Order: sequence, then structure tokens, then C-alpha cells
Amino acid sequence: MDVVLIDLATDPLTKLYGAYRTCYTPKTPREVWDDIAAGIVPQDKIASFVEERLKTGHVSPLEQVVFWFGISGVSRSLSHQFVRHRIGISFEQQSQRYVRFTGKNEERLEYVMPESWEEAGKKAEFEQLMTEITRVYREAVAAGIPAEDARFVLPNAAPTNFQIMVNFAELLHIGDLRLCTRAQWEIRHMVSKMRSEIMKRVPELGRYLQPKCGEKRMGYCDEDEKAYRACPLSAVRPHKLVVIETFKRHRAESGAPMRDLTPDDFAAAEAFRETGAPKA
Ligand SMILES: Cc1cc2nc3c(=O)[nH]c(=O)nc-3n(C[C@H](O)[C@H](O)[C@H](O)COP(=O)(O)OP(=O)(O)OC[C@H]3O[C@@H](n4cnc5c(N)ncnc54)[C@H](O)[C@@H]3O)c2cc1C
Repeated sequence: MDVVLIDLATDPLTKLYGAYRTCYTPKTPREVWDDIAAGIVPQDKIASFVEERLKTGHVSPLEQVVFWFGISGVSRSLSHQFVRHRIGISFEQQSQRYVRFTGKNEERLEYVMPESWEEAGKKAEFEQLMTEITRVYREAVAAGIPAEDARFVLPNAAPTNFQIMVNFAELLHIGDLRLCTRAQWEIRHMVSKMRSEIMKRVPELGRYLQPKCGEKRMGYCDEDEKAYRACPLSAVRPHKLVVIETFKRHRAESGAPMRDLTPDDFAAAEAFRETGAPKA
């Protein structure tokens, strides 16, 4: 598997600063960007301002930062999962209609084999099947069956390539799901490589790419307890139920016990107004 960060929106931190600042200042975007261009806003202020905003749920500015990746040598098993992401990401994938896999002379077409096959002593059977599929596929193409029909015999193990464009908000969401140990190993491996690529160029953003239980994301695991217990990260991250139980205990001890929301709570929330008063 190869994952390369082809390009990214120029100066992503400043783009984020401009986007967030526009929300919170009476200045126009032109004035905000004139200040940046004049060096009135130093780079460390931009970085710390963005860092503070990244801690909040204000996600939409992150859509203004975009990354392009080239990904090759991943299986069709992976690609089928990957293309389920449908918001904030754009895919171009190698076609099995226009590309005929007949160019090389090797015995078998290339394929991705999970280590578990070798560990189970089944590598030879896997390879034998790939050899047979290769024979049938190549004979089909040679017999004039169009590639779009010959491909029906190709396996999930067939490798594929992508060029994708993804915005940072969606990439964080993909990291939440696909860096989690609940995700399949191959897609986890790929997203991990995407993270490494971003770490090389923009570590200030790359470190936010974490599984959802990470301290920079949701912070706790919301998977079922059995999966949580099986996960190596459970040694360092809490489960949702533990967080709630701990909060309940703390509130009970402080004399203001937690309870389910009542109609009065909804009314109180509806009546709530920002006062602007300093917080106690
Ligand atoms: C561990 C794991 C196991 C899985 N198992 C299965 C399985 O057994 N079968 C299966 O079919 N799929 C499975 N999936 C795929 C999963 O159901 C999603 O299709 C996939 O994770 C894409 O994520 P997303 O829905 O968040 O889409 P994204 O496009 O990544 O969503 C981005 C954000 O936009 C929101 N969003 C997207 N579209 C809409 C919409 N129409 N309306 C409102 N909000 C929207 C999402 O909720 C999310 O917050 C699995 C995924 C994981 C991680």
C-alpha cells in the first residue's frame, strides 16, 4: 500500500484563522486578510487561535481546508468501505472497465492477501485460487469478453488505486471511525498513513486525526463494552458508561444529582438567553 499527500490548500492554518476570525470579528474578511498580509497577526497567534477553535464543536470552517491524496495497492475490499463516505470527499478510482489486467507476464494478477491467511497456514490455497482466477480472467479477455464483464470474476483482493480530495472536517470524521480498532485493519492502516503524511506537512492539524476516543476528539469510547474491553486503547481511554457513572457519582456527592431531562428542563433551555455576564 502506498499513500502520498499530493497537495493541500496553501497555508491551511491561515485559511482556518481567516474563516474562524470572520465569524467573531466586526472586521470584514478583506480587513482580516489585510491584517494577516501586513504581518499584524503573528504566526504564533494564528496557530493558537486555531488551536482554541479546534477544541470546540465549530466544525464548518474546517471544510475550507482541503487535502489531495494518491493511494495505491489497496484492495477492493477496502475501496468498497472507503467510498461509503459521501460528504466532503471526492474519489477517482482506477477503472476495471478501462484497465485490462493483462499487461504483465507474471503467473498471477496482483492481489492483497491479509496476514491471517498466512498465519492460518492457508497462503498456498489463497495463491492457488488467485492463479486460477487470473487464468479464467485472461482467457475471458482473450476470448473477446469485454473487460467490464471479465472483471466479474475478480476478487475483493484485487488491488486498486485512488486519487481523492477530502476536506479536513470529513478527514477528522473518517479518522474517528477508521482509526478506531473497530474498523477493518486495511482501512485503518491506510488512514494511519494519511495521518502520517499530514503530520509531515501540518502537524498542528495532523495530530487531531485520532480515533473518536482520542483526547483531541470525543475523548471516550462509545462502542459496545465487549469491543471496548478487547481494544488496546481501553488501557488509556474511558468508556462512555464509565464517564457517565463517574459524573453521576460526583454529582450525587456534591448534592446536585444528575437525572433524566424533564419538560421543565426543556422549558428552561428554551427560555435561556445569553446575558453576557462574566462566568462565575
Ligand atoms: C466499524 C464499522 C463497521 C461498519 N459496518 C457496516 C456494515 O456492516 N454494513 C454497512 O452497510 N456499512 C457499514 N459501515 C459503514 C457505515 O455504515 C457508513 O456507511 C460509513 O462509515 C460512512 O460514514 P458516514 O455515514 O459517517 O458517511 P460520511 O459521508 O463520512 O459522513 C460525514 C458526516 O455527514 C453525516 N451525513 C452524511 N450523509 C448524511 C445524510 N444523508 N443525512 C444526515 N447526515 C449525513 C454523517 O452522519 C457524518 O456525520 C461500517 C463502518 C464502520 C466504521
